[in-house]
Amino acid sequence: MSLLEQLKAWSAEYECLRAGSQTLHEAGEATALGNEYSLQQLWQHQTFEKKALRLTDGTPLEVVEPGRWNHADGPDFQDAILIIGGELRRGNVELHVRPADWDVHGHAKDPAYGGLILHVTWYATPVAKTLSPQVPLLALEQNFPEYSDIPTFCAQHSQSAHSIERPCLARFSQSPLVLDRTLVSAGYYRLMAKTNRFVEGLQAENAMQVFYEGLMMTMGYSRNAEPFRRLAKEYPLTLLEPFPTKTRFAILARVAGLLNESQRDLWDLWWASGVKPPTEPFVWDLRGVRPQNHPFRRLAGALGIWHHLSNLLGLSLVDLPKAIVKAADLLKADIDSRIALVGATRAAVVTLNLFVPYRLALGELSERQLHALPGEDLSMPMRDTWMRLTGRKDGCPKDGLRQQGLLQIYSDFCHNHRIVCATCPIANG
Ligand code: SF4
Repeated sequence: MSLLEQLKAWSAEYECLRAGSQTLHEAGEATALGNEYSLQQLWQHQTFEKKALRLTDGTPLEVVEPGRWNHADGPDFQDAILIIGGELRRGNVELHVRPADWDVHGHAKDPAYGGLILHVTWYATPVAKTLSPQVPLLALEQNFPEYSDIPTFCAQHSQSAHSIERPCLARFSQSPLVLDRTLVSAGYYRLMAKTNRFVEGLQAENAMQVFYEGLMMTMGYSRNAEPFRRLAKEYPLTLLEPFPTKTRFAILARVAGLLNESQRDLWDLWWASGVKPPTEPFVWDLRGVRPQNHPFRRLAGALGIWHHLSNLLGLSLVDLPKAIVKAADLLKADIDSRIALVGATRAAVVTLNLFVPYRLALGELSERQLHALPGEDLSMPMRDTWMRLTGRKDGCPKDGLRQQGLLQIYSDFCHNHRIVCATCPIANG
């Protein structure tokens, strides 16, 4: 039996749980406290009393999914799903104590705060002067007039939040071994899904193009994965192959609209290549993007990795992340950068998303190597899922296989608006 066939067998238990999730409906869980941070906790867990919420203009609001709690720049919650006045809306949510805190914090000047579909506050006034009145306002004070102030409201709901025990926690606290088996099975499932793309690519003899597209998308993070994918598809390897790496970079940066004429050296390389920009320009989402994560730099990093690909494919998985960081710096001097083009965290993601599945598809990895996969920095979805499954903040897995399992459970169950904890297959085995 090949390792890929074994992966399928090992992930069968998780696949069964996942199949059970397809028949379930919407979720709802909850929390609370007093200041802005406490309101965020309240929003994340949605533990306030179940009653019809109304916006300040009287429109009914239903929270289908509160969104992902964002601890970095930008709105407090991203990718929320709400039903406002009967209309399903997806986007970002920002929380404050008073509406005018929006002005005080200067969010209007920050493009990262775009895509807002709801402003949640305790008080209904004073109104925000720099926020469009089109953005709906939910004032909790109006919806919960029985509570005199935020501390009273939060104390009440904080208690109910802590009393919530998710059914998966009850199951796994009885049996840590079952938890570990579930995480490993989910991890195998995730790796298998990633590997299948390469298996299909190998059958169609375009595995390298699949790798190239995957590398570009990984460099785009979630926000710019799509324009990076489009770039790799519309300007494929077959078009770039005749050119040296620096010219490939100049071509891609120019056609993507990331290069300006003042960067003469690169501009001339593109001009001499004869490759035309597309009629429909690329659209990049640069809201809140830090200079070091700008797509121009990420593109240079991707081409550095591509340049060294044959060497990288021969390295052990343990050595790979460091070697990727080094390889990505090939064009660093050409774009006058003093700092690394790809950091250790992104290199770990590239390893797990691309090198591991590709080598699995080629049948080059063993079960022992999968159990020693390097882990990534712990992300919010990993921590959140671990907390739900174990009730603990500490002890989150550091190895790549179990981390992949946490991410898979997060997207299939905990962050899936069709799942209710009470009937969640993970909790009910
Ligand atoms: S969705 Fe399932 S796994 Fe996630 S917290 Fe609820 S019961 Fe646990």
